[in-house]
Amino acid sequence: MTLDLKKKYQDRLQRAVAQNDYTNAAKMIKALDALHKLHAGETIEWGNEPWEKELRNELSDNFVPSPGEALSLSASTVETYLECPLKYRFKQIDKIPESASRPQLTFGNIIHKVLERFHGSEGNITEDQILQILDEEWKSGEFTYMQREEKLKEQAVEMLKRYVHNTKQEPPDVLDTELKFSFDLDGIRIVGMIDRIDNSSNGNKVVDYKTSKRSTPAKNSVQLGIYSLYLQQAEDEKLAGIPETATLYFLRDEEQPEHSHAFTEKDLDAIREKITDVARGIRARQFEPCSGYHCDWCDYKNLACPAWES
Ligand code: SF4
Repeated sequence: MTLDLKKKYQDRLQRAVAQNDYTNAAKMIKALDALHKLHAGETIEWGNEPWEKELRNELSDNFVPSPGEALSLSASTVETYLECPLKYRFKQIDKIPESASRPQLTFGNIIHKVLERFHGSEGNITEDQILQILDEEWKSGEFTYMQREEKLKEQAVEMLKRYVHNTKQEPPDVLDTELKFSFDLDGIRIVGMIDRIDNSSNGNKVVDYKTSKRSTPAKNSVQLGIYSLYLQQAEDEKLAGIPETATLYFLRDEEQPEHSHAFTEKDLDAIREKITDVARGIRARQFEPCSGYHCDWCDYKNLACPAWES
């Protein structure tokens, strides 16, 4: 369901009441009640009344694939479902927009672009070079407040200088950056993009940059697991094989920016199972809310989430 659909039915209800057409108004209320239940992750027993057929048709564009139909997932959508199935539904199926202003997202995108260009350019690894790229990529005006923009730019300069300092000690032999991929896994299309792949003596290494404040272990990362699964089955000889290590590089972490893990076949089997469980849940339309501390960072908490309705 989209918010547009809810608004449409609210408008129709208002019109029906204004015209004293209470028979129609009662149908609109039933439709709104059904939409509310779907929002809350409840299952609807559909009947054959005309309003039900109409609503089902309108929802069908947004409905999820049934078993056997193609389902496309990325690391981020799998992680969203694992965190909260209802959040997955709001974002991926209902397409309810998250808050318009996302400075941290813009910031992360700029840093990723800078690092992609930095590793794609010729010559030595220098501070001047990376800061020049940062100036070229910085998007003035994309941040709501000037003060905030200045603070974020300072942070970017600091973290990129530190990155150059750390990377200079042992420059990577970069094979590829921002590598888009897709592959099929047990009837599920997996899509994604790997920030960096390095060549090393014992196979390849994959690196994913993080601008988040909190560092997390690489071993539990579904994202790194998916990258490793992709490379495990890749046909390109230069990339094929489970990577020697998979690394989350936390650019804000001054003490220990690199968190690495060497995924084993067994680890990858567990990731595969996690993904198929998620796909099964989505296809069975299981979208119960799962509330917790993570709700504090969820845009739907005050927007649409029934778990936080007072
Ligand atoms: S606020 Fe919490 S329970 Fe509600 S959708 Fe977001 S993550 Fe799920």
